[in-house]
Amino acid sequence: MTAMAARSLGYRVQVMDPDSSCPARFVVDACFEGSWNDARAAANLARGCDVVTLEIEQVAIECLEAAGRYAPVRPGAAMMRIIQDRILQKEWLRGCGFPVGEYRAVTSAQEMAEAISMLGGRCFIKSAHGGYDGRSQVKVGFGSTCDAVEAWTMLGQRPCVVEKALELDREISVMVARSPRGEVKSFPSAMNHHENQILVWSVIPSSVAPEIEAGAQRIAREIADGFQLEGLLAVEMFLTKSGELLVNELAPRPHNSYHASERACVTSQFEQAVRAVCNLPLGDVSIVQPAAIVNLLGDLWLDKEGQPREPRFDQALAVPGVRLHLYEKHQPRKGRKMGHLSGVGAIPAEAVERVLEAKARL
Ligand code: ADP
Ligand code: MG
Repeated sequence: MTAMAARSLGYRVQVMDPDSSCPARFVVDACFEGSWNDARAAANLARGCDVVTLEIEQVAIECLEAAGRYAPVRPGAAMMRIIQDRILQKEWLRGCGFPVGEYRAVTSAQEMAEAISMLGGRCFIKSAHGGYDGRSQVKVGFGSTCDAVEAWTMLGQRPCVVEKALELDREISVMVARSPRGEVKSFPSAMNHHENQILVWSVIPSSVAPEIEAGAQRIAREIADGFQLEGLLAVEMFLTKSGELLVNELAPRPHNSYHASERACVTSQFEQAVRAVCNLPLGDVSIVQPAAIVNLLGDLWLDKEGQPREPRFDQALAVPGVRLHLYEKHQPRKGRKMGHLSGVGAIPAEAVERVLEAKARL
């Protein structure tokens, strides 16, 4: 989607991906196959580029540095080093005075057990490295019997963050863009609904109270400035039942919760990413109309017996205002994001209603 936006702005695009049949292959000029720690592939990619960006945070720092010898890498290695590591990321946020939930960084089963008990027993334990869509995470104290020793083993016996489970009122995110020339623009916040730690649907604007919106915008912009961001940064936030606004995590790239920006805003997050990394003037982030998305997971391509089935896209597309976005991923695995439906409405709730109605028809 970023490549399509770049092409529309007249750029030529090449990508690096561990999978040579990656989703971007049909819209780019060249594909470099290489794992996320393949510095040679990263250098080969960068050699023909004027600027390099990324849309997954787990690219090894060596790759970013190798690419950086040929072209500017935005966002840069210094910021990525901190964001890639949940422990460093949380420490950076806390150290700068941004509000985060209670947590402990742990490096052994024993420390994990102590942290869980100090934090009240109900916790989200997250591996410091890797992990997305709730992967590399374990919940303890939610009625399951999973204890610290099991959690430590399940997460690969590697450093983790133990977070107190918060009572959430809602989740929002703010996408902020900053260009090398220092221009900053942040999109109106999105409201995000997760189930089993995976984003199910998201809507822009979020309809939070104006003072919450102002606080969320200020936090996102200050984080972007604090990092001297070049590119995009999604700031995921929790609004707790007691009314606190806390930073959950940072994603320095286009983000699932802003897929609806294509329809909700004057400028999509994808175009904004390209504008930011190419040092162009940033686009207008005003709302055109409320828009929502609902994710389509691989489960929809499998019937109850696990046999392949084709979702009823024809039925879904009959819902007014609904569009289909598929990512060209081959293997429809359970829990894998294969695409999304987007929808617009007169008010945010109507946009959500329409995408949920369309998804129910699949
Ligand atoms: P990921 O990298 O997989 O997106 P997150 O840290 O954002 O990981 O967690 C995924 C989701 O799990 C969150 O959006 C939220 O719904 C839930 N979650 C994570 N941490 C907590 C917490 N400390 N308290 C309550 N819910 C949480
Ligand atoms: Mg998240």
